[in-house]
Amino acid sequence: MENKKIMFILIFILSLFAVSAVCAGNAMQMKDDSIHQVSTLQAFMHGEYDGIITVGDLKLNGDTGLGTFEGANGEMIVLDGVVYQAKADGSIQEMPNNEKVPFAVVTNFDEDAAMNDISAKNFSDLTSQLDKEADKLGKNNIYVLKIKGDFSNITVRSVEKQEKPYKEFTEVAKTDQKVFNYTNQSGTIVAIYFPKYMESLNMHGWHLHFLSDDKTKGGHVLELNMTKANAGVDIISEFNMLLSTKDSFTKMDLSENMTSKISSVE
Ligand SMILES: [Zn+2]
Repeated sequence: MENKKIMFILIFILSLFAVSAVCAGNAMQMKDDSIHQVSTLQAFMHGEYDGIITVGDLKLNGDTGLGTFEGANGEMIVLDGVVYQAKADGSIQEMPNNEKVPFAVVTNFDEDAAMNDISAKNFSDLTSQLDKEADKLGKNNIYVLKIKGDFSNITVRSVEKQEKPYKEFTEVAKTDQKVFNYTNQSGTIVAIYFPKYMESLNMHGWHLHFLSDDKTKGGHVLELNMTKANAGVDIISEFNMLLSTKDSFTKMDLSENMTSKISSVE
């Protein structure tokens, strides 16, 4: 009997801890509408593929996002605090904390709005629906979406790891891009939107990376047919950016307008 009483008191105390931990967690989540970007997409396009932050440190800045790895080694998908690599051979693996990152965008995801029961017959159908949502919520915000659903078709790409001297990314996409077409997949798309006025730091519009629920397929999304999905929308109002201190970046000529080159490969 006495043991039972002690157990009951212990469980009661543990429940109090659990409740307060959940409350503290929610309070923190509500505050975090910041996004963290590593480098600029324009520097990456020019061949700046050396990592400037580790996967371990990137994870301290966000649990959801997208990017790539040192040497443009595949596509990065960050989901629920895990950093996945979609390799050019089509496989998926979790990346270790010591791996380096030349370009990425991450946030601690918290849902500020939702889009339920959406479908899209192709990529541009989806992005035009997302554009409408962004227009409604404010076209000058940054957005991170988690779109979880079923895909009758999804086409993704990844790229082969590059060796120095690095080529511009438009060349990499021509020679070292691998495209995979999958049918009947369930999974999550991490979608990131940057407004027009930020197009010299990233790309205007929607950048989509996919990971299947069974964590075996994924990559940078090129095309899709989404039969049914729900999307959580994180409205971002704070932008943080980490820049390389290497001469290859600090002395790089970034005067070229990269918008059309970026839209040809991203
Ligand atoms: Zn991408």
